[in-house]
Amino acid sequence: MDKPEILYMVIPCYNEQDVLRETSSRLKEKYISLRKKGLISDRSRVVFVNDGSKDSTWSIIQELHRESPDFFSGIDLAHNSGHQNAVLAGLMTVKDICDVSITMDADLQDDINAVDEMLEKYYEGNQVVYGVRSARKSDTFFKKFTAESFYKFMKIMGADVVYNHADFRLMSRRVLNELAEFKEVNLFLRGLVPLIGFKSCSVYYERHERFAGESKYPLKKMLAFAINGITSFSTKPLKMITGLGFVMSLLSICAFIWAFIAKFAGFAELGWSSTICSIWLIGGLQLFCLGIIGEYVGKIYAEVKHRPRFIVADFLNEVGAEFINMDPDSKQETES
Ligand code: UDP
Ligand code: MG
Repeated sequence: MDKPEILYMVIPCYNEQDVLRETSSRLKEKYISLRKKGLISDRSRVVFVNDGSKDSTWSIIQELHRESPDFFSGIDLAHNSGHQNAVLAGLMTVKDICDVSITMDADLQDDINAVDEMLEKYYEGNQVVYGVRSARKSDTFFKKFTAESFYKFMKIMGADVVYNHADFRLMSRRVLNELAEFKEVNLFLRGLVPLIGFKSCSVYYERHERFAGESKYPLKKMLAFAINGITSFSTKPLKMITGLGFVMSLLSICAFIWAFIAKFAGFAELGWSSTICSIWLIGGLQLFCLGIIGEYVGKIYAEVKHRPRFIVADFLNEVGAEFINMDPDSKQETES
């Protein structure tokens, strides 16, 4: 790839009037230094996505764009769609005008100095660079505990996420084009991006405290986010029902044996044995059958998501190679 490339940073903003001025001035400084270093082209921009804020976030974004149009752009969403959708809206809007994108929160909890290293990794050939928190010193014990349990639980439940990586991430235009093929409505980017594949690596940084404003992710939203992540990525909960049904059915055999012993030893009330046997057996069978229905529901769920079944990374063929690589880059060539 030819240096310098066009970088678009996508920043979702929901009621962020307290932080936007500071964030934008730090980002502008960063952009100036990146341009000087020859890491990004002058056509690079920071895109603020206003996610239906109720405060003056959008008017600040408009002002920023007016003051420095060669640094700041803005997207205004019609209503609050949530962090993940706001990020996706930004990425899908810029995917055809940028070479590489970085997503980051508006509160600068992620270290913008990691951007240099991310870009270097990108120029070394990585298509995805994950920003990973090396320490959580600034987080409260509660936030640290809930967040770390979240990653562990996600793994157990079968959703493959990068440990301690949130949504601070570099993605090339190529990856954005593939991401556009995932049409699912329940979006969980942290799980989707590793699914896309391609060469990727991580950059480590220390997470800071939010310097102003307050977190838009209280416990309730965090739990909803975790449940969405699990149910969007794995049908393991459904499989667990089948397993439970199986165990219950096995246990019912023990209950049978126990009921017979009790009956013939003579210490069972009349009718107790048959009642206890049916409860266990029917309970087990019902759960087992529910689990089987669950397996089918899981299959239907996978089908309706219409995820791409494969993504071609390269095609070594005289005509084909040209054709495959044409997708993201050739448009630009024909444009210029
Ligand atoms: N955000 C958004 N839409 C929402 C909620 C949050 O765009 O409905 C943005 C918010 O402005 C911020 C980012 O998502 O840029 C992360 O939110 P926050 O910093 O409050 O979460 P935390 O870091 O506390 O998990
Ligand atoms: Mg934050």
